[in-house]
Amino acid sequence: MTILPIIKQDILTLTKLSEDFDFTKPPQNPIELATNLVDTMLDAKGLGLAAIQVNLPYRVFAMRGNVNEKGNPEMFCFFNPRIVAYGGEIVKLEEGCLSFPGLFVEIKRPRDVRFRFTLPNGQTDTKLFTGMTARVIQHEMDHLDGKLFYNLANQYKRSLAFKQQAKYLKRVASQAKILKAPDLGKSTDSPLMITQI
Ligand SMILES: [Zn+2]
Repeated sequence: MTILPIIKQDILTLTKLSEDFDFTKPPQNPIELATNLVDTMLDAKGLGLAAIQVNLPYRVFAMRGNVNEKGNPEMFCFFNPRIVAYGGEIVKLEEGCLSFPGLFVEIKRPRDVRFRFTLPNGQTDTKLFTGMTARVIQHEMDHLDGKLFYNLANQYKRSLAFKQQAKYLKRVASQAKILKAPDLGKSTDSPLMITQI
């Protein structure tokens, strides 16, 4: 099992346009790439993960699908995907991204997508996705095009979300300090201790 490092807050990399994965001259084994993306996504507890988020500029992403008859979520990895049609009403939903920890923004997107993709074995198919999977597909397609999800929200919602994220990052940083502090527990009046409580 290979867990790849996820790029965080690196706008320069995350706004790059990803290139088609060439099955005739594969830059790496597509099955191995799919396995690594799925493993990394699961390890990070994400619903989706685009290759560019692990610094691989290919039009490929992993997605956790719906729960199947056996009670397990289906795992997908789509190569060179394309949304061929949108459908359903426009739905507002709060979205987050593994590359922007603590950033949650309400985004409007169509409920359904008809989606064409190639599987790691080179087989091509078209399927209709709806609800959360259609939402993840649209978010990941934006990654392949170098678009950042928060830019789909208006200026007001975006700045509010960034403020919340700044608080979150500060909290995480102070918790990290507590964990590293060698004299933890010796001083009860430390502000770091208060944060932890
Ligand atoms: Zn994302």
